[in-house]
Amino acid sequence: MSALIHLENAAKVYKMRGGDVHALKGITLDIDSGEFVSIVGTSGCGKSTLLYVLGALIETTGGAYQFDGASVEDMTDINRATLRGQDIGFVFQSFHLVPQLSVVKNVMMAARYCTPSNGRAMSRRQLKKRAMELIDRVGLSERRRHRPIELSNGQMQRVAIARALLNKPRVLLADEPTGNLDIKTRDEIFETLKEFNAEGTTIVMVTHDPELAERTPRQIRLSDGEVVQ
Ligand code: ADP
Ligand code: MG
Repeated sequence: MSALIHLENAAKVYKMRGGDVHALKGITLDIDSGEFVSIVGTSGCGKSTLLYVLGALIETTGGAYQFDGASVEDMTDINRATLRGQDIGFVFQSFHLVPQLSVVKNVMMAARYCTPSNGRAMSRRQLKKRAMELIDRVGLSERRRHRPIELSNGQMQRVAIARALLNKPRVLLADEPTGNLDIKTRDEIFETLKEFNAEGTTIVMVTHDPELAERTPRQIRLSDGEVVQ
């Protein structure tokens, strides 16, 4: 069986006025369905860039990326958007919630990016039900009508996780999901991720926290745009 995620010699160069930034210098890796992997390394080594590539949010400047056997470079923009919308959930470091919307509406918003042609389209009622279930799972039922500004960082991160899971993606990509949280909240969020992983969601988590990384079955260490371990 081939890997869910297969990167072959992937490179990313950011063209800047002051010169090229080689953020990824030939990354080769496989991630199987069901894995919980952490990506670790010092600040600036390319962790976010790698995660953005895996999320098909940015394109590589070299190498090959296959998702479930399909070449991501060869996809049309529409197919890539479908991949992002239905197979990949992304949790951003800074949450990216919509300030004027309630928790429920923020979570439901993810459905907009899921194309209705895939046979998995949900009615608004089903959608709301699924959103409420996820909000319950991340422990925010009492807060479902609140707006992001009324929530703590940990709670906002929980909303972002629920939103990322709305469309039942095959893989959840999380960029420093516990980066700005205290230890207790960090541990709670990590436990929540572990539960979703146990139910079958593949998870790739970027972290600069070595203690947290050690709790995942596999760690990928980056240094200066390369996999070192
Ligand atoms: P990390 O997440 O490990 O801190 P990043 O992937 O954010 O690392 O950054 C890797 C390198 O690429 C850094 O040198 C950073 O300055 C550069 N970089 C990241 N994003 C951009 C961008 N959008 N434009 C130009 N350079 C970038
Ligand atoms: Mg980063």
